[in-house]
Amino acid sequence: MIKFNLKCENGHGFDSWFGSNDDFEKLRGRGLISCVICGVAEVEKAVMAPRVALDSNECALHEKPQVDDVGREFPEEARRIHYGEARQRPIIGQAKVEEAQELINEGVPVVPVSWKPKQVN
Ligand SMILES: [Zn+2]
Repeated sequence: MIKFNLKCENGHGFDSWFGSNDDFEKLRGRGLISCVICGVAEVEKAVMAPRVALDSNECALHEKPQVDDVGREFPEEARRIHYGEARQRPIIGQAKVEEAQELINEGVPVVPVSWKPKQVN
């Protein structure tokens, strides 16, 4: 297994594991690697070093990732996307804890986000 630092065309960086460099190239060629943040399939291996000093203003999210709000359909839709029955895209929605757990158990990538951030303090 090889871990690559990847970067999408919108400049999001993330890590992913691949069986080999060939695997990476094959998956990328078929558009199967997409940014975990915005979902675009235009992904490159990030240059490892030296780090480019980015202007922090430039770096701000000027393009809002397009996320589909599917609401209560989330568990169903996440599954469809995972099994290739629906278009690959980032979605957001609601799921019960048990539903989210089931998705995770099936290997569907789910990132829990809180809808109403608790007021701390
Ligand atoms: Zn991205």
